[in-house]
Amino acid sequence: MPIDIAHITKEILLQYQDEDEPKRPWIVGFSGGKDSTMLLQLVWITVSRLPAEMRNREIYVVCNNTLVENPKILKYTEEVLQDIEKASVSQGMPIYVVRTIPKLEESFWVNLIGKGYPAPNNAFRWCTERLKINPTTAFIKDKISEIGEAIILLGTRKDESSSRAKSIQKHQVKGERLRKHILPNAFVFAPIEDVLTNEVWAYLNQVPSPWGSDNKQLQALYRNANSGDCPIVIDDTTPSCGNSRFGCWVCTVVKKDKSMEALIENGEDWMEPLMDIRDILVTYRNEPDWRESRRRNGSTGEGILGPYTPAKRAYILKLLLEAQKEINAGGHDYQLINYQELVAIQVTWYRDSIFKYSVSDIYNEIFGTDFQSGDFNDHLIFEKEVLKESCANNPEHFGLINELLELQSSKTILMNNKGLHNDLERRLEQFVKKEEEK
Ligand code: SF4
Repeated sequence: MPIDIAHITKEILLQYQDEDEPKRPWIVGFSGGKDSTMLLQLVWITVSRLPAEMRNREIYVVCNNTLVENPKILKYTEEVLQDIEKASVSQGMPIYVVRTIPKLEESFWVNLIGKGYPAPNNAFRWCTERLKINPTTAFIKDKISEIGEAIILLGTRKDESSSRAKSIQKHQVKGERLRKHILPNAFVFAPIEDVLTNEVWAYLNQVPSPWGSDNKQLQALYRNANSGDCPIVIDDTTPSCGNSRFGCWVCTVVKKDKSMEALIENGEDWMEPLMDIRDILVTYRNEPDWRESRRRNGSTGEGILGPYTPAKRAYILKLLLEAQKEINAGGHDYQLINYQELVAIQVTWYRDSIFKYSVSDIYNEIFGTDFQSGDFNDHLIFEKEVLKESCANNPEHFGLINELLELQSSKTILMNNKGLHNDLERRLEQFVKKEEEK
């Protein structure tokens, strides 16, 4: 039976107009891939047909960046998100874009280079939860705690894989559009679950994007990457990473990253250094001389391999920064690792009693800079991340608390607490005065 868009649209409309109070927000998991694009288009077009006063349910388009995304996909997705933001405002839609990223201590490089976690594989796939599930879950939980319940819209489809089809059926409540999510007070709505892959493409070819992106670009991206989808991952039942998909460029769970290979073959040869790093991570993952003989939990014994040795952690960082330098020299501004992650790696090395290698030395060697070890050593880095999250609604409070901490730390470093109390009070008074003047 061919795709019945009118039926899907009706389902979406009925659900949108459900008389729940307060209106449970819709959270659309958006990866930028074909399925979530089709889903969002359908939702957008349906809601836009309503008069403005009836667009009374908020819709959050949540897009997660693992910080190790395939650069081509990341660039494309970010452009689409910007189109969505602009079009939503100009068309008076209740649609808001939310970008999520992993927590600093859960980032890929802080775990792999900092803590020495071996590159993920099927037996030890530590990445999906940290990089994909947790950041989105944190946002959903936030919304639930604010409003009580939330509805998550997913572009999952039954024909994608038989295990996914089973998982969808297992959670389905007979006769109802919504199924339960494993998070309490969260429900899942998957309006395109019966749509076939070729029907998704047919739809995207025929129906222009209501936010003004070009679906042909998306198609070209799939063609050039010879790729399937890497859908947004909301929970463990959603397979994030098949054999041929857009995933993290560092992904070592697949034997070969076919999409990256195809992109390189199709002219994106500046990505070669990335593929080389990925291949090294795959090749040497289980080399005994790359790994400690004791696990982080203390277990030892024959065949047991612990974290990467300090020397190898330092080596991987060097490879990464060299690759960064090479791709920047080629005119590409993709960032492989950010400053906060570098600081967090240094702090983690100190916590692991690694003093022989320092992030600043490795960085200086490659970029010819003159960083001192203190520039990459902020022992409050993880705490500050938590602080930043807590102050998300009042960024100026983060600035203030940060300054007070700096003030205290500088006095402590100088072994001179004299006047600290007065200094703190003075700074607080300045802040209050400025707030009053606003
Ligand atoms: S794409 Fe690979 S590296 Fe990324 S989360 Fe999935 S399994 Fe992990």
